[in-house]
Amino acid sequence: MPKHPLIAGNWKMHGLRDAIPEALAMDTAARQSRASVAIFPPSTLLFALSEALNARPGPSPVRLGGQDCHKDAQGAFTGDLSAEMLKDAGAEMVILGHSERRHGHKEACESVAAKTLAALRAGLEPIICIGETLDQRQEGLTHAVLSKQLRDSLPLALEGQTFHVAYEPVWAIGTGHVPTDDQVIDAMLLIQKHLAQRFHNQVVPHTLYGGSVKPDNARHLLSLDGVDGLLVGGASLKAEDFNRIIAAAD
Ligand code: PEP
Repeated sequence: MPKHPLIAGNWKMHGLRDAIPEALAMDTAARQSRASVAIFPPSTLLFALSEALNARPGPSPVRLGGQDCHKDAQGAFTGDLSAEMLKDAGAEMVILGHSERRHGHKEACESVAAKTLAALRAGLEPIICIGETLDQRQEGLTHAVLSKQLRDSLPLALEGQTFHVAYEPVWAIGTGHVPTDDQVIDAMLLIQKHLAQRFHNQVVPHTLYGGSVKPDNARHLLSLDGVDGLLVGGASLKAEDFNRIIAAAD
């Protein structure tokens, strides 16, 4: 782990205002950790969480992010949110290309790339997700799928920008199935090789692993070659769990 690990919690479509104390408890843990911590709540909570974190004494180390954004800054797009709107509500980061967007909303890599440009335009730091399905892995297509997703979802405009890539095998998300160490390391090395060949950034991107990360496996996953952060879904909803994952990064 060459850099401070990035521990990111994706709340997905979970959380009402009564979840704010959970985020404050995560802030308390983040203040005692060397990890970079980010929370991606539903957009309806961004502003309230940002206000609550800013109301605490001293700057909060917890950064907030959106879970998706539209490629345009504004317009007639009912139900969508622009990167600028997320930023205005307190976001500093945004998750793009999550498998639940790629598969549930039929988002193509080209759309993820356009959204990445929008994030950069608004000054948001993107985490771009890639990952193969179980069928693709079983057909031996993992490398081809990851390479295509990297090539087509990451625009060249990322050169010189701060961004992150999360490897999230679709079959590991929310299932309790975690890939073998070799499978994780293999994917991480593929990603890092791709990034090194295409981008020459001063800030080397974090490569995150995501998929059924729990308090009990976080430390081990973080010890694997190439894993310099975790993207956590279900186990990021409760401070009791997420704080143990933050502590695993120390
Ligand atoms: C995710 O959705 O990004 C994720 C990794 O979910 P979970 O940790 O619940 O598998």
